[in-house]
Amino acid sequence: MEYFVALLTTLALYLPALTGEPIPDVASLPAFEVADRLEQAVFAHTGQRRGGELTTAAYLPRENVILLTSALLEDLPELEAVLVHELVHWWQVRSDRAGPHGGQAWEDEARAFENSWRREHHLRLRPPLPPPNRRRP
Ligand SMILES: [Zn+2]
Repeated sequence: MEYFVALLTTLALYLPALTGEPIPDVASLPAFEVADRLEQAVFAHTGQRRGGELTTAAYLPRENVILLTSALLEDLPELEAVLVHELVHWWQVRSDRAGPHGGQAWEDEARAFENSWRREHHLRLRPPLPPPNRRRP
């Protein structure tokens, strides 16, 4: 687990290069938890069901926890890309920059940063989110 804490810190320190903004506070980096049933884990933490698809990971802002599936731990390049995405959500919640706030805008921004990471590391790009009316409820 210490390895993953170090990995998370390394990736967080890379965020300014990606976003052009300072990172808010490395001391407040999220904890993480391995959970193979993401929907259930989100519910256990927040008492809420999440809309949309949860496939590999989720960031819970109030709890400041990143949830990851164990399959992801066996694919380091993929894990890094997903952690970059979830760390962007952490940064969005904590940074006081002006700009889009919450919801779809944040998800689009996180995917854009994730994809620039993926491009740099020659990984398969993540497709953009379909428009809300085409997502399952
Ligand atoms: Zn996201």
